[in-house]
Amino acid sequence: LERFVRNCLHDLKPYIPGKPIDEVKRELGLDRVIKLASNENPIGASAASKEATRKLLDQSHIYPDGNCFELKQAIVKNLQVSMDQLIIGNGSDEIIKLLAEAFLNQGDEVIAPTPSFSEYWFAATVMNAYVTGVPLKDDFTYDIDAMIQAVTPKTKMIFLCSPNNPTGTYLSKTELETILNNIPSDIVVVMDEAYYEYATADDFATGIDYINSHRVVVLRTFSKAYGLAAYRVGFGIASKELIHYINRVREPFNVNSFAQVAATAAIADQKHVEDSRDIVEEGKKLLYNAFEELGLPYVPTQGNFVFVDTKKDSKDVFTKLLHRGVIVRSGDIFGQPTYIRVTFGTAEENEIFINELKEVL
Ligand code: PMP
Repeated sequence: LERFVRNCLHDLKPYIPGKPIDEVKRELGLDRVIKLASNENPIGASAASKEATRKLLDQSHIYPDGNCFELKQAIVKNLQVSMDQLIIGNGSDEIIKLLAEAFLNQGDEVIAPTPSFSEYWFAATVMNAYVTGVPLKDDFTYDIDAMIQAVTPKTKMIFLCSPNNPTGTYLSKTELETILNNIPSDIVVVMDEAYYEYATADDFATGIDYINSHRVVVLRTFSKAYGLAAYRVGFGIASKELIHYINRVREPFNVNSFAQVAATAAIADQKHVEDSRDIVEEGKKLLYNAFEELGLPYVPTQGNFVFVDTKKDSKDVFTKLLHRGVIVRSGDIFGQPTYIRVTFGTAEENEIFINELKEVL
């Protein structure tokens, strides 16, 4: 069989997500397990979106609206874009894949920061494209000059992630404009803004400001601040022309009806997003303080997670925390073998994490 699969699959390391709580409970025989590993929303989904999906149960036999009309209308009300500048996906993960399918041919080059979200590598590699990883600087901020210098005549796409997963660092307006103005204008620039709602920096750049002037595609998601990760719904924002081509590779019913109504209701409940932001700010204060007390360097974050240097083998710290019922992400998977990435949880979860961390260090 090996000879029949696509060549690129031999080197491809599939993305392995954080272990689910039930699996850890089962495997380790633990009663109390908390997961601070997947940047989920600790206060869950808004009551309005839960109610909307409950009401839809009687429509379970009907195919979803393949055009996501109502959801697009709700998004348009909130953002200064038009309906034909939107594409909805089965999570923003799907849109990353659709972008690769729409624009990448064998042998094309793609640029992405490193460490960053592994789906960019995965999607490009499956299309037989090559990814040039441009390391972040020592402080984990973007190396703008290096990103620009990595461009070759074969470069078709550049991924930018801001706030960046796993570091929480971001691109300022000046930095984004420097990149956009110093690369060939036909390159597709993907601005992954999965954690946009949590960003607080005054000079934080959103790609939305550049969708009409450049080939910029912005990715947003309902999985994080909106607390709808289980439904799998995210969206892309770009010029009508780009959206047209991404739509060509999209399956007709890629976003299920429950996800559509849940996301539509969630947008209308901005109070819930504010509450999600508040809990992240509280977590930030608590964890920053604890890290300072423990003498652990951390990367100031714009996301709902923080990258911290445990000064120990991160795999070991990860495993010890796991056995104490706390799931985090080990930095070795991001090429940072002493760091861990921790999602801010509820006040109680944050306390548990800090106490257990003190025990294992
Ligand atoms: N982009 C980034 C940077 C992420 O961290 C994630 C979630 N891990 C995603 C995209 C995918 O989000 P979703 O598919 O749930 O919309």
